[in-house]
Amino acid sequence: MSTVKKTKKAKKEKDPNEQHRAIKYRLEPTPKQKEFFEKTFGCCRFIYNCLLADKIAYYQENGKMLNNTPAQYKIKFPFLCEVDSLALTNSQLDLQIAFANFFNNHSFGFPHFKSKKHSRKSYTTNLVNGNIQLYNDGIKLPKIGKVKGIIHRQPDQDWQLKSVTISFETDCNYYVSLLFEYIKKVDDILLTEEATEENTIGFDYKSSGLYMDSNGKSCDMPKYYKQSEKHLAELQRKLKNKLLNSKNYIKHQNKIRKLHKHIANQRKDFLHKESFEIANRWNNVCIESLHMRAMSNKGFGNGKSTLDNGFGMFVNFLEYKLFIRGKELVKVDKYYASSQLCNHCGYKNPLLKDLRIRSWTCPVCGFYHDRDINAAINILQEGLHILSKRRKEKLKAKEEAKQLNKK
Ligand SMILES: [Zn+2]
Repeated sequence: MSTVKKTKKAKKEKDPNEQHRAIKYRLEPTPKQKEFFEKTFGCCRFIYNCLLADKIAYYQENGKMLNNTPAQYKIKFPFLCEVDSLALTNSQLDLQIAFANFFNNHSFGFPHFKSKKHSRKSYTTNLVNGNIQLYNDGIKLPKIGKVKGIIHRQPDQDWQLKSVTISFETDCNYYVSLLFEYIKKVDDILLTEEATEENTIGFDYKSSGLYMDSNGKSCDMPKYYKQSEKHLAELQRKLKNKLLNSKNYIKHQNKIRKLHKHIANQRKDFLHKESFEIANRWNNVCIESLHMRAMSNKGFGNGKSTLDNGFGMFVNFLEYKLFIRGKELVKVDKYYASSQLCNHCGYKNPLLKDLRIRSWTCPVCGFYHDRDINAAINILQEGLHILSKRRKEKLKAKEEAKQLNKK
């Protein structure tokens, strides 16, 4: 028993420099290829449900977990042989993960059956003996051959392909997502270059825009949702008049889905560009750690506009873009009173808990503050403080390692 546990643990210990990146491409399948994709989605759902149903039945009878695999069903259901068998194996893995989640963490429910209507249409397959190949104008996939697609970028030379997921999305397009693994040698910029006000920036979250930085530059994201709100409302009104599940109804529903996807894409595009520029320009970025969910709830009073502005997504993009450049994102504790402190003299003004106060004059030093800029500067100062502490610790650890090596 103990040996089994040990090997499991050893497997979990990953190379800390191991990184994953995914690239998603839009596919342009022929009608025949579409048919194949649909068939595979269906078979994956089918096998998942079969495995689950038999596991439940077996457990009820014997009180034990049944170890069934997709191969056992191929004789009874020969159509399963027509699709990519690795896709079926991945469905089995998905089910195993769902069970493991259920047993290990009670916040996960018992695995559900997949529904034809509501479940996500996708399947995942793996690279075996060159069965997957990326070209400039498409991708070769197992059992189906080359599918045309828009290959907007190529992976780096040292990225290793791990898996490929084909999906049909709400905008009625087929996509392929390639997951890569690579070893990132992070040059520790902290060790070579000290964080200063010249190479570090602080951001304060701005509910009416995206952020205010410590240099006083504010960034407002276009309100994409608001821009399309009228159009969306109109479509939804029209949908009401259609006969449920009629051809016209479905056509209209797809229009709505496409619009939602369009809004999401506009937002993502903007945030990618913004975070890309910041990650190129700055060595370190300091932000306040916020709980976006809590902030977008109604009590905060700014629900729709908070969701529309996507600060959480911005922080995610920024974090990985900085990381792959060997740079650092510093999250300042959300209980650090960044908006209440005067960045000049350190006086703490409790009146600023009131979010409506946008500017104030410090009663101690008389300095005039814009609320957001002051907060961004405080976040920067606190971030610099954290960075310098971390740097000292790292240098100390490095020194100690050196000493040990000498011995
Ligand atoms: Zn002051």
